[in-house]
Amino acid sequence: MKKVFHFDAPREPYQCDAAIVWCFDNRFHLSFTKFVKRLGISNSDLIKIAGGAKNLASPERESDREFVLEQIRKSIVLHQTKRVILMLHSDCGAYGGLMGRFGGNTRLEAQYQDAELRRAADFLNKAIPGMEVQAYFVDFEGVWQVELAP
Ligand SMILES: [Zn+2]
Repeated sequence: MKKVFHFDAPREPYQCDAAIVWCFDNRFHLSFTKFVKRLGISNSDLIKIAGGAKNLASPERESDREFVLEQIRKSIVLHQTKRVILMLHSDCGAYGGLMGRFGGNTRLEAQYQDAELRRAADFLNKAIPGMEVQAYFVDFEGVWQVELAP
């Protein structure tokens, strides 16, 4: 191997502020980064997969759900994670898109994704009890928090 890039990464282990289950759709990358910073999270374990929290709420395969749970468990073991943030976004290809799935109706989409995030949180609470769970829906204008029961 030859060195092609130099940097100095921190070598100390860290405590994770939150494991975040999020979609890899790059249109939201900058907004996502700003939002996570706004939440005061500096050390996140980002689980970035197509569909994000869909993989817990309504996975295509049961193994997708198990994969996400395993990633969260690893985050807990490795970085003492106590909080999980579940996220979905508007016009997600994993759901068939805003037009394809919801006929362009943003209100319908938001209602559906609110329910999806609740399903994901319920499933997570049962599978890994005792975590602090937060859920957010991101559209093209902002971030919406789902009010989960404590
Ligand atoms: Zn997506």
